[in-house]
Amino acid sequence: MRKLPIVVLAGRANVGKSTLFNRLLKQSYSMVSSVPGTTRDFHEGIFRYTDSTAITLVDLPGVLEGDYLSELAFEKSKKIIEKSDLIVQVVEARGLTSTDEEIALYLRKFNKPMILVVNKCEGRVDLSDFYSLGIGDIVEISAYHGLNVYQLEDLIFSKITGQKFEEPTPIVFGIFGAPNVGKSSLANAILEEERFIVSDFAGTTREVVAKSFRRLGKSWLLLDSAGIKRRKSYDKELDGLSVSRSISAMKAPMGILVIDASRLVTHQDKRIASLMIERTGASIIFLNKKDLIPHSSLGVVYNNVKSDLKFMDSPLIFGSALTGESVHLVLENLKDLWEKAMTSYNKKDILEAIRKAVSLRPITVENKTLIIRNIRFESKFPLEIDIKSNVRSDLVPKSYLRYLINTVKKDLDMKGINLRMEFKD
Ligand code: GDP
Ligand code: GDP
Repeated sequence: MRKLPIVVLAGRANVGKSTLFNRLLKQSYSMVSSVPGTTRDFHEGIFRYTDSTAITLVDLPGVLEGDYLSELAFEKSKKIIEKSDLIVQVVEARGLTSTDEEIALYLRKFNKPMILVVNKCEGRVDLSDFYSLGIGDIVEISAYHGLNVYQLEDLIFSKITGQKFEEPTPIVFGIFGAPNVGKSSLANAILEEERFIVSDFAGTTREVVAKSFRRLGKSWLLLDSAGIKRRKSYDKELDGLSVSRSISAMKAPMGILVIDASRLVTHQDKRIASLMIERTGASIIFLNKKDLIPHSSLGVVYNNVKSDLKFMDSPLIFGSALTGESVHLVLENLKDLWEKAMTSYNKKDILEAIRKAVSLRPITVENKTLIIRNIRFESKFPLEIDIKSNVRSDLVPKSYLRYLINTVKKDLDMKGINLRMEFKD
């Protein structure tokens, strides 16, 4: 499988890189802000031009070392530019600054194809000044209003022509959990490189950051939804809205629930777990910070968490994002679940399993013995099934439905798959 070409968006703060990035991706993976230097993280996403042509688009927080770019971020930026196939420098229509000139000079040293984007062109703009940067291809756009963005797309793909890319559907997954449990650290450990800025402060990373990569013969898209944070005024209650927003930002993803082994499972952990069961297609639990637990207590901690989160029924991996212990099991487990979910479950087997469960524990509803007539796949991933029976759907006890779900899951070895079933009339 060939790698997608990498196109970077570079430029000084506030010229509209994030706005352009969002416009191109048509998804809000990156927070748009007017405070210079707010965008410190590297945002990355797959931009599809046609069905079979796509690029990886990277929004760089900056390229020059200075007030708003640490040495670490500078080095990362440089590495990404070195790997890139095309550099898009963004400047503002109102005129060039000396920083723009320094950036252009710096970028040209990489000897990559370049495009200059003059952004915020809502009216007529004289482009002659902009040629002084020495970049031949200039496009005037308004990222905010979407003007000329298609021309920019065409120009990008004329510069990296002849390359056809067929990227299979990536396995999309998110990392969920309370603040400070180690979500960013786990993301880092999975990516095996310092791409996210890990911090000790709760709620530092507010956006959903996307990162695509290939591993285990699959392409993956990691959505780092560090937006899950707690509102102080709620005390231990969770800011449910921000959780739902983070989760609903994703389409049929898989979820990793991160739990901090050095403290007890909290109410908040459980709330996030139930949201994941409702929203994601499949999930696993990563019990993090194993390195902080004394050897003699490992078994107790593991069993306590397992029992506190029994309702989640997901593979549980005990490891450490910091030391890397068992991190490799995360993607292996996700891959297994994904393949199982995508290929294994058919209507016939599930119908049979439901009928078997009913025959093992028959119930009577309004003097009628429950008979399963048929089922319908509402959605394959997440797996949602409607059941038709000989009784009124609202009279089937919730506890019986739970029994059916649990039995079917056990019977068909669906540990970690979030099976949803409902009786329908
Ligand atoms: P970045 O720091 O380069 O990522 O810049 P942002 O995307 O955060 O944009 C900085 C500011 O410029 C924000 O207030 C945007 O709304 C604004 N902006 C972005 N694109 C345009 C545009 O095409 N026209 C105008 N007038 N403003 C824009
Ligand atoms: P997030 O808020 O969930 O993204 O958590 P972070 O990844 O920012 O981690 C919060 C803190 O826990 C940081 O100080 C990390 O260094 C620390 N941390 C993360 N994983 C581990 C681990 O496996 N072991 C230990 N000892 N500390 C960890």
